Amino acid sequence: MGNIFHPALTTFSGMTDLLYLRDCYLREFEAIVINVKDEGIVLDKTAFYPEGGGQPSDSGWIKWGMHRSQVKNVLKKDEHVYHVVEGLMPSKGTLVRGIIDWEKRYKHMRYHTALHILAGVVYHLYNSTITGSQISEDKARIDFTLEDLGKEKVERIEFEANKIVDEGRDVKIKFIPREELVNNLQLIRIRPELIPNLPVLRVVEIEGFDAQLDGGTHVSNTREVGRIKILKTVNKGKFNKRLEIVLM
Ligand SMILES: [Zn+2]
Repeated sequence: MGNIFHPALTTFSGMTDLLYLRDCYLREFEAIVINVKDEGIVLDKTAFYPEGGGQPSDSGWIKWGMHRSQVKNVLKKDEHVYHVVEGLMPSKGTLVRGIIDWEKRYKHMRYHTALHILAGVVYHLYNSTITGSQISEDKARIDFTLEDLGKEKVERIEFEANKIVDEGRDVKIKFIPREELVNNLQLIRIRPELIPNLPVLRVVEIEGFDAQLDGGTHVSNTREVGRIKILKTVNKGKFNKRLEIVLM
């Protein structure tokens, strides 16, 4: 969602090139182990998404030689990306093959894009902005500013969101210089002081509909999201409402 939920907006974090920021569909990659620490192993590049921005960590496997260990969790700490490995650990300097648990990741991508669609819909309909979100493999939730959210509004939001799905809009990842964004604020709809102070920022754009500063992984076309079903609403305060969704 907005930049406050996504700290990862540059392509490097610490010493690690974050491959998933450029190519969300990369399922396997080769990398060199550059550090082995208590927190986990650090690679020179990775396609594993580290937990953050309401999107859970990827899991999967690393292989080297005759060995194969499970990557249980991936986390970012002090700008370093640590792969938490169960079983045998590769030593520093080893060339490894990383394999993403794609079934799980692809669900995260579908849910993440679904939340961007909902963010765009509530903004266009009610001028609401997003205050929080969380994704899992089988559901997601999004909080936004709105005073009243009755059945009629929920039905309208669901209808408009599925219209965007059916329109099959491209979802594009762009790297845009900060200066260009500051001069084009209506694109990402945030105050200039909230734009992180980085020379280039990553923007996820649902073509002709919505754009967000974003470090998450996304499908490349809204049609891949599938049917969005709003399961329930939760009142999170006078001006804060939650939608819980599932994808069919
Ligand atoms: Zn997002």
